Amino acid sequence: MKTISSLLDEHWHERYRKISRLNIRSSIYDVTNRCNLRCKGCFFFSSNEHKAAPEETDVAEWEAFVDREMERGVNLAILIGGEPTLCLDRVEAFYKRLPTFCASNGLIKVPRDRFPDLMVGISLWGDEQDERVLRGRDTFAISSKNYEGDPYTYYLFTITPKQIGRTERIIRKIRDAGLKVHMQLLSNDEGVSGFSWKPGELTAIRAEMDAMLDAYPETVISSKYYHEVITTGMMLGRPFGWMECPSVTQPLDKRDPAPKHLTNFIRWASDLKTMHRCCTSETRDCSTCKDGAAHMSWVMVNKRAHMASTRDLQNWIEVYEMFAKLYKFLPW
Ligand code: SF4
Ligand code: SF4
Repeated sequence: MKTISSLLDEHWHERYRKISRLNIRSSIYDVTNRCNLRCKGCFFFSSNEHKAAPEETDVAEWEAFVDREMERGVNLAILIGGEPTLCLDRVEAFYKRLPTFCASNGLIKVPRDRFPDLMVGISLWGDEQDERVLRGRDTFAISSKNYEGDPYTYYLFTITPKQIGRTERIIRKIRDAGLKVHMQLLSNDEGVSGFSWKPGELTAIRAEMDAMLDAYPETVISSKYYHEVITTGMMLGRPFGWMECPSVTQPLDKRDPAPKHLTNFIRWASDLKTMHRCCTSETRDCSTCKDGAAHMSWVMVNKRAHMASTRDLQNWIEVYEMFAKLYKFLPW
């Protein structure tokens, strides 16, 4: 095994040192079972996870729960739903205690007087046309007004196969709204016609994602290695899937042999007792899962495998930096 020092020059070594101090330990929380949208392909509703458990409504219970989570070592809370902004008291129970990221569709603005530096990731599913088909409305028109120029917000742009050749216009609109963007790929959980990826399309979108990163480095938070891994589903010759996925709830994880996984990771339902299988859908076929965070984590937990060459380790560092930037552990 080669050593970090033998693989990296001083510049890369310094970058490595910065991330090696972070020790990010995240878990994911369903804040509510409700949403003000019903997107076709939302993993939460399509797999009936919104019916897995009744919502805990007592905010004091949420506060005590977050305290217990911190004792468990969690230092990054990722809030999803449903739509977390429907329950701001619950969001506040996390935000007052630890670094918190809130995934939102952006239709309701998080009040910045109450949550000045809460990280918000706004979901966006393509252009106006795609969004009307998949989400019932053009959410960007509303969310971009709500969050224009906000330094703690970025778009989580879920690219569909229909976006090939059309992503630049969206990325420019995001730049012009003074916001950042991170890209991932749609997993077509409800089999909507025309929205499943074909191999040639994945090759094309990888080239386009690379080109967007080159053309808009101030706006796009990404890395080319991440584009490679998410579009090919391969990392160092290994295929992504159930036996490799790092984002599986640890107490439920009976895989043998156990793969590298996120330390103490749990995705909690909104009753604060029930656990979901993984960071996405209980019913999703892992062989077609395109979840961006799971792929990023897959790279991040496999540092040793990236120590065969300087380029591999640099790729690993870039993915780790990207993740840290998305959750504001490193500045943009
Ligand atoms: S906005 Fe998010 S939580 Fe709501 S239905 Fe769409 S994908 Fe699901
Ligand atoms: S659905 Fe995706 S995130 Fe969930 S276990 Fe399978 S590969 Fe991992």
